[in-house]
Amino acid sequence: MSLVELGMPGVVRRPAPPDGRPAVAGLVDRFGRVATDLRVSLTDRCNLRCTYCMPAEGLPTLPRDAVMTRAEITRLVDVATRELGVRQVRFTGGEPLLRGDLVEIVRDCAALPRRPELSLTTNAVGLESRARALRDAGLDRVNVSLDTLDPDTFATLARRPFLERTLAGIDAAAEVFAVVKVNAVLVRGVNLDHAADLLSWCLERGFELRFIEQMPLDADHAWDRAAMVTAAEVRALLGTRFTLEPDDEPRDGAPAERFRVLDRTTGRALGRVGVIASVTEPFCGDCRRTRLTAEGAVRDCLFAHTETDLLGPLRAGASDGALADLWRTAMWGKRAGHGMDGPGFTQPARTMSAIGG
Ligand code: SF4
Repeated sequence: MSLVELGMPGVVRRPAPPDGRPAVAGLVDRFGRVATDLRVSLTDRCNLRCTYCMPAEGLPTLPRDAVMTRAEITRLVDVATRELGVRQVRFTGGEPLLRGDLVEIVRDCAALPRRPELSLTTNAVGLESRARALRDAGLDRVNVSLDTLDPDTFATLARRPFLERTLAGIDAAAEVFAVVKVNAVLVRGVNLDHAADLLSWCLERGFELRFIEQMPLDADHAWDRAAMVTAAEVRALLGTRFTLEPDDEPRDGAPAERFRVLDRTTGRALGRVGVIASVTEPFCGDCRRTRLTAEGAVRDCLFAHTETDLLGPLRAGASDGALADLWRTAMWGKRAGHGMDGPGFTQPARTMSAIGG
């Protein structure tokens, strides 16, 4: 059944791309970028209340029937991998570990004909008891959020005293996953001077730490560019204890600029560190990401102001081909970049806790 026959309410229709749009199967935008990396938000619920993301009281969450079911997620990932050339799928949230059927979702997606690389972004609270089951279900790697090793600072930033549970989750992940990446946000006056210790801790364990510039996606709309810790500051800070050398591996559209970390005195190679400078050194020109919200809407960019509903058409019987075409159309209109440096920049209504990174 086509979308016209469906006459779908609620679909944020974009003008059909001009005939000049190249007849390619993938998720191409008008700047020629091809999205092969899909981020799927499995829930907008979270068990932390990080100050740079959520208000202390939390946010209203989606009604259960508005959230994609396990079968709907698997179907859309199948369409994305089989029809649209997606090769990597990352499950995010809110906090994806809050989905009781997470292991089953991973297993279903790992069994798809065009199996994508599967990863998870998590705060690791509760990962201790699920890491092995996730690995056995087919998860390939995990990205864990950890901003400090100090329990009081953790409780200040996350507004929950869960450092020990997070560390237990990371330890469990390290036992079963070959690759563990750690994401950290530095907040001026809170954990800025924890950066080098956090890097040492990660290097000792073979984890790849990435520092992420804080982005204007917080629910309180309190983001202040002047207060934000920049990538340049992070490099300078780390440079007081380590030698950082540009990584020789190609970046391939990845958000993180990577560096080889050497011991300052011996020059011994210690591992790698990444810096994700979304604000001050944007990498939009080679963006390869497409996103699905927990409600099954396509976001062509973290900072998009419009979304394209797929779940409505799917529930109304749309074919895979129709869903794929809607997705292509959604990505065709992607803007050149987040536009944060432009005069007209406004923070999107949807917050990071309901996008998932
Ligand atoms: S801000 Fe948008 S366009 Fe830029 S890298 Fe992120 S998702 Fe891609």
